[in-house]
Amino acid sequence: MKGVALSIVVPCYNEEACLAELHRRLSTAAKVAVGGDFEILLVNDGSRDHSWDMMKMLAAEDRHVVAINLSRNHGHQLALTAGLDFCSGERILIIDADLQDPPELIPAMMEEMDRQGADVIYAVRRQRAGETAFKKATASIFYRALSRITEVEIPVDAGDFRLMSRRALDAFLSLPEQARFIRGMVAWVGFRQVPFLYDRAQRHAGVTKYPLRKMLAFALDAVTGFSTAPLRIASHIGLWLVAASVLLLLYIAFGFFTGSAIQGWTSLMLVVVVLGAAQMFVLGMIGEYLGRLFMEAKHRPLYIVSDIAGQAGGRRYLGHVAETIATNETPGVSETRPMT
Ligand code: UDP
Ligand code: MG
Repeated sequence: MKGVALSIVVPCYNEEACLAELHRRLSTAAKVAVGGDFEILLVNDGSRDHSWDMMKMLAAEDRHVVAINLSRNHGHQLALTAGLDFCSGERILIIDADLQDPPELIPAMMEEMDRQGADVIYAVRRQRAGETAFKKATASIFYRALSRITEVEIPVDAGDFRLMSRRALDAFLSLPEQARFIRGMVAWVGFRQVPFLYDRAQRHAGVTKYPLRKMLAFALDAVTGFSTAPLRIASHIGLWLVAASVLLLLYIAFGFFTGSAIQGWTSLMLVVVVLGAAQMFVLGMIGEYLGRLFMEAKHRPLYIVSDIAGQAGGRRYLGHVAETIATNETPGVSETRPMT
């Protein structure tokens, strides 16, 4: 069965204050771009507010809306993956629920894709309104550092806001990893990817769902997912220490032969502390990779869906999921990665 022309995938976590406005602006923009031939997939990532109730209402009122309820909070990147798994469009737009990325850009992004013959149009932030100087500075440093240590060219200052072709999405969906840094994975897929400059707005309502802790975890996923450079830190430090120890050896020998070798608490402590710290750091780095290897080795499903609400016109769902949709909503379905 042929899918719709455009699928819009939105991960949502505690976004009740944004959903109505999001739906209104997305629908308007999508109609301008493709007429009625679109779907909006709202993925509820275990929200603790009334997001899911609102999504069900939207799905009941509007046949363009499909609401997917995850069994718990799986995190932004996995919620997004769930939506991408379920969407059927020839083109796929990824957008945040908080309206920081203006839906009104959709028609222009579609045109740009036609004009450039591109498979991915990724939105690059020219300006970011309403975000702290700290967030902007750390993001800027991070993206530049990341691009230095990875072989994949991950675009600087781009989030997940992007338009993809079906073949780019299918290629993306064939990547099985648990620790997902989606903007990097899309870059890895290749094809023709073109930047699209825009100004990032403020949140429509609510607060950021990315506190420092999540930002750090996200950054670690990005680094470990796309580079093994940190694993080589040990050998770099080791090399420098060899050079340093030759000098130290000379100094020790000098002290021994001139008979002035008793003092030395300071230098001893220095060596112990510096070496200890370096070893702990390197061990920790290895641990990061080992932990991820462990998680990958378990081959757990990426996410669990508990309910789906909405119409299933022309979708690529598996049979038993389609049944769920036909009855509009059945709790307790454990459906994972239905179509890879
Ligand atoms: N989000 C999610 N699960 C989470 C955290 C965030 O689905 O555990 C969604 C959130 O609802 C939003 C998007 O991911 O649509 C980006 O989050 P947010 O706007 O809070 O991040 P920021 O723009 O501040 O980096
Ligand atoms: Mg945001």
